[in-house]
Amino acid sequence: MAQDHGHPLAYRVHFAAIGWADRHGHAAFEPGRLAALLGKRLSDQSARNAVARANDLHLISPRSGAACLVLPPHLFQKAKGAPVPCRLHQDR
Ligand SMILES: [Zn+2]
Repeated sequence: MAQDHGHPLAYRVHFAAIGWADRHGHAAFEPGRLAALLGKRLSDQSARNAVARANDLHLISPRSGAACLVLPPHLFQKAKGAPVPCRLHQDR
């Protein structure tokens, strides 16, 4: 669904966050990977804009960036088991 161009781009960011989330709701991407995932010709800047738009709509946590999408706690409350390290968010 993250790659389905029938959905608005901000929602595709949301689907990417869900689809790639670890058990703590973090979805880490290598540089350029999120843009490539969302569309062949999407620039990194467009990907960052899409992340900002998804954030405005509360589809992802404000802690998100193109390198790691974080699901908001009201959408993702599992967070069970041992902490999974995140190279971006080191506070867990
Ligand atoms: Zn993270």
